[in-house]
Amino acid sequence: MTSHRVPFDGRFSIRDFPTDPPDGRPSKKELEQELADLVDQLDKWQHRLFADERFAVLAVFQAMDAAGKDSTIRKVFSGVNPAGFRVHAFGRPSELELRHDFLARIGQRLPERGKIGIFNRSHYEEVLVVRVHPQFLAAQHLPDVDLKRIWAERFESIRNFEQHLARNGTAIVKFWLNVSRKEQKKRFIDRIEKEDKNWKFRLGDLDDRGRWDDYQAAYQEALRETSREWAPWYAIPADDKPYMRTAVARVMVETMKRLDPQFPKLGADQRRELQKGLRRLQKE
Ligand code: AMP
Ligand code: MG
Repeated sequence: MTSHRVPFDGRFSIRDFPTDPPDGRPSKKELEQELADLVDQLDKWQHRLFADERFAVLAVFQAMDAAGKDSTIRKVFSGVNPAGFRVHAFGRPSELELRHDFLARIGQRLPERGKIGIFNRSHYEEVLVVRVHPQFLAAQHLPDVDLKRIWAERFESIRNFEQHLARNGTAIVKFWLNVSRKEQKKRFIDRIEKEDKNWKFRLGDLDDRGRWDDYQAAYQEALRETSREWAPWYAIPADDKPYMRTAVARVMVETMKRLDPQFPKLGADQRRELQKGLRRLQKE
């Protein structure tokens, strides 16, 4: 199985990461079976994560429109105890948020130890949509902006921020759902033609589609500059939804395994207490 992990050496090239699954993709049925099994495992790992109380997990999702962020989040996490995870969607920052630095609103929504936090869009919008549309930057009340340096500075801030979180017990994993331009067109048309999907379509989405190459360039550089051992990016082929969801679930389970949270070991006192409790209950 390919891991789809983006290298840590800054040499990532979008051209090496296809939007289609690799050859020999299992059947849809097999993928769905595997997904169900992975979702089960993920729930068990979350249970341990909660009991262990040392680690948090942060899963970041970024993609072009219609790549399948929402449905992937739904399918991969819907089997996990709802008390164990929280999803945050980051849209355009509010006036108040714009009065803070760009990581402030992120910091307020990080998962605590024992929990999985899921970001549907994230601080990465600050080097993606904001880079492609500099008018967003103009609205950020920044003291001085040097367009030649600002993106490198933001990458540095993001790397440092994520490394800080990792050192303090948050395992970070980042997914770029890599959809092709052709497949996006198909999904947009579907959104227009199917009444129950109409609500998902906004004409403005086509403006971003029109800037496809600029977005690809921005994604390539962002992933090069921020895929690191402590916060790896995975470029997941997104043209095939069953494959994409299973690949994401697999990476989530692998991440939990690597973290290997443990149920706390009981001390002698606690074991004595359990025995006392048992005796009392048996006497009732
Ligand atoms: P959606 O995810 O379709 O609900 O749309 C959310 C929109 O908010 C997208 O168009 C994002 O690009 C935009 N967005 C998210 N974060 C930022 C940001 N930091 N600055 C500007 N736009 C953003
Ligand atoms: Mg949208």
